[in-house]
Amino acid sequence: EALDRIQVLEPKLHSFLHVTAQQALEQARAVDAKIAAGEKIGLLAGIPIGIKDNMCTKGVPTTCASRILENFVPPYESTVTQKLADAGAVMVGKTNLDEFAMGGSTENSAYQTTANPWDLSRVPGGSSGGSAAAVAAEECVVSLGSDTGGSIRQPASFCGVVGLKPTYGLVSRYGLVAFASSLDQIGPFGRSVEDTAILLNAIAGYDPKDSTSLKVEIPDYAASLKPDLKARSKLRIGIIKETFGEGLDSVVEQAVTKAIDQLQNLGAEIHIISCPNFRYGVPSYYIIAPSEASANLARYDGVKYGYRAPDAENLLSMYTRTRSTGFGAEVKRRIMIGTYALSAGYYDAYYLKAQKVRTLIKQDFEKAFKQVDVLACPTVPTTAFKAGEKNTDPLSMYLLDLMTIPANLAGLPGISVPCGFDNNNLPIGLQLIGKVLREDQLIQVAYAYE
Ligand code: GLN
Repeated sequence: EALDRIQVLEPKLHSFLHVTAQQALEQARAVDAKIAAGEKIGLLAGIPIGIKDNMCTKGVPTTCASRILENFVPPYESTVTQKLADAGAVMVGKTNLDEFAMGGSTENSAYQTTANPWDLSRVPGGSSGGSAAAVAAEECVVSLGSDTGGSIRQPASFCGVVGLKPTYGLVSRYGLVAFASSLDQIGPFGRSVEDTAILLNAIAGYDPKDSTSLKVEIPDYAASLKPDLKARSKLRIGIIKETFGEGLDSVVEQAVTKAIDQLQNLGAEIHIISCPNFRYGVPSYYIIAPSEASANLARYDGVKYGYRAPDAENLLSMYTRTRSTGFGAEVKRRIMIGTYALSAGYYDAYYLKAQKVRTLIKQDFEKAFKQVDVLACPTVPTTAFKAGEKNTDPLSMYLLDLMTIPANLAGLPGISVPCGFDNNNLPIGLQLIGKVLREDQLIQVAYAYE
């Protein structure tokens, strides 16, 4: 059914860069055979899933939506996709993204722009736009994305699905193509909070292959979900007051305010919380992320794998031509910003300063979490915009990340849950941010609200 739907919708949606139909049918038949033989099947047996094309899949192209990895077929499997296969999930394809996950609309993909299923003239958000659109359009049941500054939560908000960025270190990054290693985190998309929680269970857990992976017990996130918040001791939710100001669409504000009222009716205690350094998230992120990216992307030089420009006279011109034709404009912009910020004369003024701001933002959260259990704010200040509207103005695109970036800088879990529609019938997202490793609490609040 998923493959049929993909066949019908893909000419308009373009959520997938590769559809792995043959392999998917074989996997699905293997599950059928197990069931027929009365054998035990996994938690996700037979569930069609989409994987963002920046996670390595053995034998299946992994392009990061970049020309530079056009011909790259990984010889190994990422930990998350291995875990999914072990649980019986059926990968139906690799989903579109902004090149190397840099962007917020999928318009930076070197191959195609994904459409928003709610209005095909609009973007699905990004960078995990393909994964969000595929779930929203029912091309698969659940999907995986990666979130460095909002790339799961923002497209979830634009496409009207649930998207969760886990605590940094909860899900292994082994086999995830690195963008900004201190911020990157893989997470699930689903059409319900419960589906999202089940998928998180399948991918979370310690992995010795990722040096930043956390050695912690993984609770059953979906096991004890309750329809309201009354059963537990009083749950305190903090509204981040700085997110309700200039630049916030009034329809988004109304929908999120209504959602918070509903949380109160469900038994939560509502507090107003101040995070004064929140607004410095965007400027510090756009120093830190490009700095890390400039180092991570140094490996694409045409030597070992990926694209190599033809007809170079010598080694240096091979490097230069490969990188100037292999990378798109946004990726080059970030490499230039990053190398500049890290260079000897500017390191203290930019990179070091940005890291200090990162600490201040973290401290804002620490203070807030002394008063409340979960924080609430809009996921994005607006709903989905028209394709082509912002892609010539990088700054206006960066500003959309205002509310999602702080959770990445602090390593905290965040979830976006649909909370209504604007006047054009476009979905709006409520963002909830939790304490470190308190995905259980975060998921419970999101579930009660939903
Ligand atoms: N929009 C942000 C950026 O362009 C976030 C991307 C992401 O989370 N991968 O960097």
